Amino acid sequence: MDWQQYSCHGCGLCCRDFTVQLREEDLKKLEAQQWESILGEEVVVHFRGRPYLKRRDDGSCIFLKEDGLCRIHADHGFAEKPIACQVFPFNLAPGAKQIRVGVNFLCRSVQENRGAGLQTHRGDLRRFAAELPELNVASDEASLARGIDTASEREGQALLSVIDEWLVREDVSFSTRLDGLAWIAQSLGEARLAEVRGSRFEELVGLLGSALPGELDLLPIKAPTRRQSALLRQAAFTRTEDPMIGDGGSRRGRVRTTLSQLKRSRSVRRGRGLTPMLSSALPSGVRFQAIEGVGPFSESPESAAMDELCLRWIRATLHGSRAWGSAHYGWSIVDGLQALVLNVACAGWIARLCSAAESRPVAGLEDVRTAIGRVDRHSGRAPWLGNPVELVRLRYLRLDDGLRRVLQANW
Ligand code: SF4
Repeated sequence: MDWQQYSCHGCGLCCRDFTVQLREEDLKKLEAQQWESILGEEVVVHFRGRPYLKRRDDGSCIFLKEDGLCRIHADHGFAEKPIACQVFPFNLAPGAKQIRVGVNFLCRSVQENRGAGLQTHRGDLRRFAAELPELNVASDEASLARGIDTASEREGQALLSVIDEWLVREDVSFSTRLDGLAWIAQSLGEARLAEVRGSRFEELVGLLGSALPGELDLLPIKAPTRRQSALLRQAAFTRTEDPMIGDGGSRRGRVRTTLSQLKRSRSVRRGRGLTPMLSSALPSGVRFQAIEGVGPFSESPESAAMDELCLRWIRATLHGSRAWGSAHYGWSIVDGLQALVLNVACAGWIARLCSAAESRPVAGLEDVRTAIGRVDRHSGRAPWLGNPVELVRLRYLRLDDGLRRVLQANW
């Protein structure tokens, strides 16, 4: 990934956004640093039996200073912070031969492609790997599709290079490239892959790649059906849902949280009136109709930068092995690829939501940054996005060109 850079520029965004779960070693470090006597308050809270860094009422980490920097880092150095804070924005997952390393696009520097090349972080990454024993357990490659054998390295590589070559084609509009990605994902879902393995699979993906973009003209799509749009909105809801520590700690609190989730989820699915609260980082009370009225992204004066960011996000997810396998709930390549397409469609809908909230006729780069950050924040991490409900949603969206339709309607 020599086209992706990152160095932390201390914007403090992640420190305001994440709830940091602590390990035994983190607790020991914090105790040795004597924060409770320095700050005069506890710095660790427990939730359902697990320790977390305490957050202030505004959601920011208790160690975030006014200048946006971390107090532990400032007083004791980078390596003395909790390991989760050190690792972010890297996403590490065990692999068959080596650890898989991706980057999270919630990070501002990653989004803006600012800083040093990713290879300059090798030393830190090796140290993280040594400190996180769960990464040192060999993990199988992902299966090609649910219910069939693990994909060989050659099969995975063949697919990746066909998709990558297609995504970077500058002679084709970005919207068509996204459509082609969705078409490949749908076509693989429909193929009987158990009978097409090894060189035959490589041949198949080669054929899919060479059929683009011509095949898309032969297979025009309509606007999404009401049901497909409802599924898309609900998928966006699950990708932005943000349970906070303290929500639902008691039994009564848990019931209240669940009821609120159900009510808001239903309202998003219905798509009438005003949007409910999705996440504190996103606008609420926006007319669903206004979101549908936001113009195509290609009409934005910032469309080139918006496309570049989205393209880099998709490619970094694929090259960083975050789309399937151990970094994505152990999902198969086909399911993971389809979930990635759905993620992009959800990011498009969320960008439109942000734009409609400001009564802007088209979305801008900042809307897309917010949207991609929200979606990628949870991707591969939030347990509810790896559950069977999510797979059922994908199954429905596969029908009747659903993935292609919701992606085209929202990007
Ligand atoms: S979001 Fe990225 S740049 Fe900002 S503080 Fe976190 S790691 Fe650093």
